[in-house]
Amino acid sequence: MIPSLILSSAVFVLGACVGSFLNVCILRVPLGQSIVRPRSRCPACGLELPGFLNLPILGYCMLRGRARCCGAHLDPRYPLVELGTALAFTALWQLYPAPLFLVYATLTAGLVVASGIDLDYLVIPDSLTVGGVVTGICASYFLPELQNCQNSTDAMIRSVLGAAMGGGILWITAKAASWLLQKEAMGIGDAKLLAGLGAFLGWPSLPFILVVSSFTGTLVGMVALKSRKRKLGVKIPYGPFLAWAAFLWLLIGDWMMQKVFLKISFE
Ligand SMILES: [Zn+2]
Repeated sequence: MIPSLILSSAVFVLGACVGSFLNVCILRVPLGQSIVRPRSRCPACGLELPGFLNLPILGYCMLRGRARCCGAHLDPRYPLVELGTALAFTALWQLYPAPLFLVYATLTAGLVVASGIDLDYLVIPDSLTVGGVVTGICASYFLPELQNCQNSTDAMIRSVLGAAMGGGILWITAKAASWLLQKEAMGIGDAKLLAGLGAFLGWPSLPFILVVSSFTGTLVGMVALKSRKRKLGVKIPYGPFLAWAAFLWLLIGDWMMQKVFLKISFE
């Protein structure tokens, strides 16, 4: 009991530290800067931050959300990303054995960065989406459990199939929507992201991810439209919704599949 609590706490701390690194990635990857150097600087005045203030979550709380150097307001997104990643890692740790946890934690980290960049720039870099497809296929080969398979070749085939179907569905949707509306309605980046998700999670996850992401996306879109009123042309990125739906699949996908299959086998 106690060792498992200690392990879970360690995973939480690990998640918070990874989240802190993901914040750096969200800021620097789109600008083409190194994610290793230089050390973190105050986003407002550029002064280098002393080590202890780099502490995830706590640093922000100790500063009460203001930079010590210049008093500028710090974006609450930083501690939120750290806390979110920490909670996500802890949840995955409870659900999956260590090898699967490693893969899913890596996937989640990639999704956090993709969402952050999509929110800021309305694009998702290929390094994340295409990189995700390649990583998903390789991971399935080395860890066939990812695709519920016994053997590596079968797992890889299922992963490729998932990528092709995920990418294909959204690519066709994007093309059709652009043709109907006579303007670019949806980025190809979203299709590439769903291809990556299909590579990791397999094609059975795709209907769930599509339904959950478009439902929550529409809901948030409607709220945003109401609160901003006249600004009708406001673009809302779809990537964060795909990411959220994929993470929800990691949490309850197995349980849902069992429910569905039990129902089918009883009927
Ligand atoms: Zn400053």
